[in-house]
Amino acid sequence: MLINYIEPVFRPPSEWKSLILQVTNGCSWNQCSFCDMYTQPQKAFRAQKLDKVEQDILAVAQSGAPVSRVFLADGDAMSLPFARLEAICELIHTHLPQVTRISSYCLPRNLNNKTPEQLARLRELGLSLLYVGCESGDDEVLTKIQKGETFESSLAALQKIRAAGMKSSVMILNGLGGVALSQQHAINSAKLMNAAQPDYLSTLVVTLPLGTERMDAVFDGQFQLPDQLGLFQEMHTLLDHLELEQTIFRSDHASNYLVLKGVLGKDKAKLLAQIALAINAPRSIPLRQEWQRGL
Ligand code: SF4
Repeated sequence: MLINYIEPVFRPPSEWKSLILQVTNGCSWNQCSFCDMYTQPQKAFRAQKLDKVEQDILAVAQSGAPVSRVFLADGDAMSLPFARLEAICELIHTHLPQVTRISSYCLPRNLNNKTPEQLARLRELGLSLLYVGCESGDDEVLTKIQKGETFESSLAALQKIRAAGMKSSVMILNGLGGVALSQQHAINSAKLMNAAQPDYLSTLVVTLPLGTERMDAVFDGQFQLPDQLGLFQEMHTLLDHLELEQTIFRSDHASNYLVLKGVLGKDKAKLLAQIALAINAPRSIPLRQEWQRGL
């Protein structure tokens, strides 16, 4: 292996061909009550030393590996200050000149200390796609899950990304409001997307592999994930309220029972019809079984 990673390493599914460059370890926030990604001791947040990042880039460059995309890991590499991000992008630009896209996860608050000019500079150096895990557009849900963000802070970040000429890819979590907040979670998430008009939108079903204890605590003692029908109804409400002009929509992560793909708004009616079938005639449409969900 060319690079020694601090495991586990996570990346968006669409970055499967990219060089994963671990410029930070873990997540600087690490408080979302549904997220167990970086809770192991070796994943305590820290910035990777620039020397180590340079060594990794040089190792890949000298290997001749055909790298055209780079994903900056881990959970929120954009928490690094501008100067460090600029230095990393310059190193990639210098040693891997064939790279056409650099991307990263980004928390909305990561952009607070970066000016539009600084973001434009990073865009110029190839950083052109930011994955923003909004999770929800509903402030009550966002407060409960301890995201540390709001509808407004999420929207401001998405608008800043767009103004810098970068693309945004947003994740919304199906089921995150539980049964109790399901409908407002869907409606307000749609409102956030309508205001932001992201380039990509994906939905994942919330999964809690290490148990519901943390979610129970923030949901007044019991978090009740909607059943399959409830998840489909929530998706129907979300899609029904979306008014997007040109957004690539994907709901094909392993966690989803129903695979949906299309461009919104052009494919809205078709996608709604597929969800309606899943609700009203589930045997007439291919759904992932529990064992196929790969969780
Ligand atoms: S910000 Fe992302 S990686 Fe960090 S705790 Fe929340 S969901 Fe997990």
